[in-house]
Amino acid sequence: MPGSGFRRFSGAVSVQTRSLTALELSAGRPAFWRRKPMPKKILVVGSSNVDLILRVPRFPHPGETITGENLVTVFGGKGANQAVAAKHLGGRTTFVTKLGNDHYGEAYRKYLVKNGFNRKCILHDRKCPTGVALIELIPDGENRIIVSPGANSSLTWKDVASLIHPWKGIGVFMTQFEIPLAAVQRGLRMAKDRGAITLLNPSPVVSFPSNMLSLVDFLVPNEREAQSLAGIKMKGDHDLPKVAKKLLDMGAKNVVITLGAKGLFFKNRETEIRMGAFKVNAVDSTSAGDAFMGGLACSLSEDKPVDETLRFASGAGALAATKLGAQTSLPSRAEVERFLTRAAHLF
Ligand code: ADP
Repeated sequence: MPGSGFRRFSGAVSVQTRSLTALELSAGRPAFWRRKPMPKKILVVGSSNVDLILRVPRFPHPGETITGENLVTVFGGKGANQAVAAKHLGGRTTFVTKLGNDHYGEAYRKYLVKNGFNRKCILHDRKCPTGVALIELIPDGENRIIVSPGANSSLTWKDVASLIHPWKGIGVFMTQFEIPLAAVQRGLRMAKDRGAITLLNPSPVVSFPSNMLSLVDFLVPNEREAQSLAGIKMKGDHDLPKVAKKLLDMGAKNVVITLGAKGLFFKNRETEIRMGAFKVNAVDSTSAGDAFMGGLACSLSEDKPVDETLRFASGAGALAATKLGAQTSLPSRAEVERFLTRAAHLF
């Protein structure tokens, strides 16, 4: 095993235990008898897209026309998916996004407000259409996606900076690259200035200033994104530590490389964790990464340790892969907890 701090977990078999802290001991009774501390507030700044999903028997070749099933239209976008994921998982979540001047925008606003998001944080662009994603799905759950950003591309750093309410008492900040880089950078900077934990899902990969990753506590790329950011072509899983180290050297404090059905690889300056994925019947991996991010943010907002956090996020990702769609497939807190208990008992 590479590196002395290397630990190997199968997501399905690891059972965590911990000793009581000095504070709990001095209080004279174990933590589970006492009231849980209030989780930190999570702020997500990111995209909202309407997803147009087509199931196809296989991906078409260039110039080829193939027949798909009936079109399915659902609410998506990495920002919205991750915000809804964190909320479903019990996180105290606020979401800043921008919608367009069309029926998609109106419907999306109503849906977000109905789901408990603050209307004032859902901005509106009068000139652009709402963002749209064209998603092709093949039977084994693999996907191909084309995004038309629409109003997402006019979410400015001034929009992010001028809102006051969402920044109050923030403890965790999460963003992605489906909105302009200036908005991402300003969000990360404001979050760090307020002492929050910052999470960046660098998807889709864009080029960014070299000092930006020093604002990132948890950088969470998938395998493709990690290689692209690090500028290293992996020859196998044995290259994961090298890729993750490069991303740490670029400034990120912790790196989580998600590997789909192969699980994940975590690295910081002290430790490495290789965690397998839970075995599930995957039908659509579209929102697995977003559910994973929601789980990560939620667990970090509750001050959970890193291995427990990774396991919780993996459970959320695995459950999301068992259902079709983006936000429609995001699991609840109860579903993930039930799944983790059962998964631990399977072995
Ligand atoms: P992305 O959608 O960003 O490419 P991944 O596909 O790597 O992200 O998925 C994120 C996480 O979700 C994985 O690390 C894993 O824990 C879980 N996951 C994804 N696909 C599956 C699957 N088919 N089976 C079990 N877990 C999965």
